[in-house]
Amino acid sequence: MLTKYESVIGLEIHVQLKTKSKMFCSCDNSGENQPPNTTICPICLGHPGVLPVINRQAIEWGILAGLALNGDIAENTHFDRKSYFYPDLPKGYQISQFSDPIVNGGRLEIEGRFDGKNWEKKTINLERIHLEEDAAKLIHSPTGETFVDYNRGGTPLMEIVTKPDFRAPEEAKVFLQELRLIMRYLGISDADMEKGHLRCDANISLREAGSDKLNPKTEIKNINSFRSVERALAFEIKWQTDLWNEGKPITVQSTRGWDEAKQKTVDQRTKEEAHDYRYFPEPDLPPVRIMNNELGIKENEINLNSIKHKLRELPQAKRKRFMEEYGFDAGDAHILTEDRDFSYFMEQILSELRAWLESKGEPEGTNEEIWNANKKRLSKLAANWLINRFLKILGDQNKNIHTANVTPENFAEFLTFFEQKKINSTTAQALLEQMIESGRSPAQIIEEKGMAQVGDESIISDAVEKVISDNPKVADDYKSGKIQAAKFLFGLVMRDLKGKADPQAVQKVLEEKLGSLQ
Ligand SMILES: [Zn+2]
Repeated sequence: MLTKYESVIGLEIHVQLKTKSKMFCSCDNSGENQPPNTTICPICLGHPGVLPVINRQAIEWGILAGLALNGDIAENTHFDRKSYFYPDLPKGYQISQFSDPIVNGGRLEIEGRFDGKNWEKKTINLERIHLEEDAAKLIHSPTGETFVDYNRGGTPLMEIVTKPDFRAPEEAKVFLQELRLIMRYLGISDADMEKGHLRCDANISLREAGSDKLNPKTEIKNINSFRSVERALAFEIKWQTDLWNEGKPITVQSTRGWDEAKQKTVDQRTKEEAHDYRYFPEPDLPPVRIMNNELGIKENEINLNSIKHKLRELPQAKRKRFMEEYGFDAGDAHILTEDRDFSYFMEQILSELRAWLESKGEPEGTNEEIWNANKKRLSKLAANWLINRFLKILGDQNKNIHTANVTPENFAEFLTFFEQKKINSTTAQALLEQMIESGRSPAQIIEEKGMAQVGDESIISDAVEKVISDNPKVADDYKSGKIQAAKFLFGLVMRDLKGKADPQAVQKVLEEKLGSLQ
């Protein structure tokens, strides 16, 4: 839609890190699955006289995220106290980072709109990434009481702040989805929005298209799903556009909350005065040095090189490689890389298929040439069965790639049977279901259940003749060109052969006996 206004959107994202222990104490960091107020200690409850200790793992993961998001890793970083009073914060201050965040800048290229073939590329720049401790969880009962669960208090949180580079709600959603995938690939967070592992606040303002002015913005809080991000922003854009059209755009910054039930943003009363958090360096924690060598690594020093080695292939790079190396189209490459383990599974299958091709000993060409001549077709075959059938059956059987019990070797073998026409697609579907159910190899199942395809033309021919002599009237209809009759006879032959015949072979024999309908 053409509009004279442009939306200017920035995001603040909190990511829960799944370290073993909390940010500054040794309490278990799996408190969300434990009874309330059981994973707590004097440190995370803020008792007087206790001393916090920095969780090295959290620092390393913050750096890892910074590297993955192309940020500048600080050489020196430290924690600050952010003072405010609220029941979810027993110390009266939160340990966070203010002046020297662990990561400055950064960027992530997202794929915006899909034109059917490719995604439009767009770079979103980051302001910073910093680490902090989470506050406790307030639970409001329907009868108006409020309970506090301190299990979440003191758990490690990473805050990612973007520049106001988004111009459409859809871009914000795509960015968050990509970010979730990166966190999962890095193995540092489950990044599940519905469970609060990934939380997002969005700020938005409008301006006249072509202007580079930043107008007072609205901050939208309480967005807890990808869908809500898009909807909340779309709602807010409409609301602000109406105000602009009435000639009274917002003049003061405000905070609004997303009401999921009403599908609208609602005003949240904010304090009149600006926040004064009285940030100052946390006196109980030493500054952290991040260095490029291992010499003199002390308690508060981190070796950057060793973290760089832990950086694995990220989803975007993998998608690109999948398209170049195997010839997948953009859509398939996307689906296949949506889960790191699933993408490994796919690659192992392809490598098995390649080994199988090579072992067949094709007369023409080198191994490389044989693979190149077949890879696109085999990759497509594998992707079709994985995406359209395998995932669906997993869903139906309430399983995932780990509990399915199907090895890449077995899956590849299954595909070679199909490729060699030893089974038809109906049988293949049943076979795959049984493989997932039993964890057995396709060869074993085919052998036991007699599933192998009837390829012998004399058997097919006998079956066709029998069906024709049993149904002379339908055979006459066929001869006079009735398509329904052809389908009926075909179905009878397939039933006779228990669905195990190659459909093309049956069609061919029928046409030989009764003539072609074309
Ligand atoms: Zn604790």
